[in-house]
Amino acid sequence: MRAALHTLLLLTLFAVCGSPAYAEPLRLSIVHVNDWDRLDARDGAGGAAKIASIARYERDRVEAEGGQVLLTFGGDMLSPSLLSGFDKGAHMVALANAIGFDAAVLGNHEFDFGPDVLKQRLKEAKYPVLGSNISYKGKPGFPGAERSRLVTAGEYKIGLLGLTTTDTPSLSSSGPDVGFAPLAETAKEVVAELRKDGADLVIALTHAVYQKDLETLRQVAGIDILLGGHDHLVLVLYDGKQAILKSGSQGNFVGIMDLTVDRVEGRNGPQLVWQPSFSLINTTDVEPDPVLAAKVSAFSSKLDRELAIEVGVTEVALDTRRASVRSAENAFGNLIADAMRTATGADAAITNGGGIRGDTNYPAGRTLTRKDVLTELPFGNRTVTMRLKGSDLRAALENGVSQVEKGAGRFPHVSGISFAFDGRKPAGSRVSEVKVADTPLDLGKVYVIAVNDFIARGGDGYTAFEKGEIVVDASSARLMASQVIDYVQKSGGVKAGVEGRVRRLD
Ligand SMILES: [Zn+2]
Repeated sequence: MRAALHTLLLLTLFAVCGSPAYAEPLRLSIVHVNDWDRLDARDGAGGAAKIASIARYERDRVEAEGGQVLLTFGGDMLSPSLLSGFDKGAHMVALANAIGFDAAVLGNHEFDFGPDVLKQRLKEAKYPVLGSNISYKGKPGFPGAERSRLVTAGEYKIGLLGLTTTDTPSLSSSGPDVGFAPLAETAKEVVAELRKDGADLVIALTHAVYQKDLETLRQVAGIDILLGGHDHLVLVLYDGKQAILKSGSQGNFVGIMDLTVDRVEGRNGPQLVWQPSFSLINTTDVEPDPVLAAKVSAFSSKLDRELAIEVGVTEVALDTRRASVRSAENAFGNLIADAMRTATGADAAITNGGGIRGDTNYPAGRTLTRKDVLTELPFGNRTVTMRLKGSDLRAALENGVSQVEKGAGRFPHVSGISFAFDGRKPAGSRVSEVKVADTPLDLGKVYVIAVNDFIARGGDGYTAFEKGEIVVDASSARLMASQVIDYVQKSGGVKAGVEGRVRRLD
């Protein structure tokens, strides 16, 4: 680090001491946001109008001095907000167009509604979206996304690439047609292409955890600047040669990297030098941009109209507080599982308590709205059905209660199944008295099971479901929330309370 800084200082001194200038120095301000799916400010920070306001302020300031602004997005905008549950992220692209991003990378959440919806969203986007390591149907690239881009800034060329986490298939619904190549390997190739095409400065937009970002930078010396996302960290890292900037999430913070780029005489001919300064702006005190604020409020009203629709009255009290849905049978958990089983015609249904997020007490007699259901199930999860052996079903239930003492989100809510468990026993041997449709579980028999797509993929430790034979996969499955809404409407309200489906012996 010290050696690198020393070199940089020497180079700068050399530049100052009268070597011939190859080009006018460039003032480049990178304004970076990542992981933003929220319309409005929360607790005073973030949201579209504040992001737009900083971008406009920075453009005015830098362009007045003859510099240039690059407004970048580090991935994850299409999901999982409530309005996205209705319009599959269309409003986010409309807002991003209005804010005027210059480049974005695809995040895992961009695949939450499947590749076909993403293709449509990419058609709507007026800014370039990079997907350098993504392939589609066996060929490099994703329709509507770019492998790389060269932009001109003053007398300099800036190369851009975009890398998306290889975890996307397990985090999202990218499906069997979309592939994600290793990040550093891809970056090496794309950076070489960009340098060959004359890129003076190379910027990688990434959507991955920072450990991966560090690995990518260490392995690919040709990347100058990495603008990240995914792990919601506010982060600046600089070793004198390469820099990382990540801006948290939701526009609560907006990161700015202000660069002076210059081409000077080096030991081996012309050489590019750049000096950064960094700011991480907490947006709490930022005035919202009025144009974007108006768009946000129009989308909020649309959302309110969609959500206000009443679905039915609950005859039982419902308690969706975090501790309640992760420790014991729960009336709301039963409701969800009943809706999944009824909608699919499966023998049984299982969903994990961690997917229930409303953290609310509803008294008996309360009218539930769509908003209540979507607040409880905000992730846009779908109901997958599979054929599963009794022994794997039993293993899944064991997993479900394996961390009950930690309040883990894997706690199972069931329909068509009843069982008992003893949390004092070692994990893996806690479950007993399992019945499916009031008949003791047959370990050798194959059952049709409905589960949410997250646990179907082995999420929350449910690896037993990976052994199932899929009947309806996530891409063709329906939203759990829609099934719950339909079920409450058709049943004329919520009737089932806690009825001994999951009995605790401890
Ligand atoms: Zn992400």
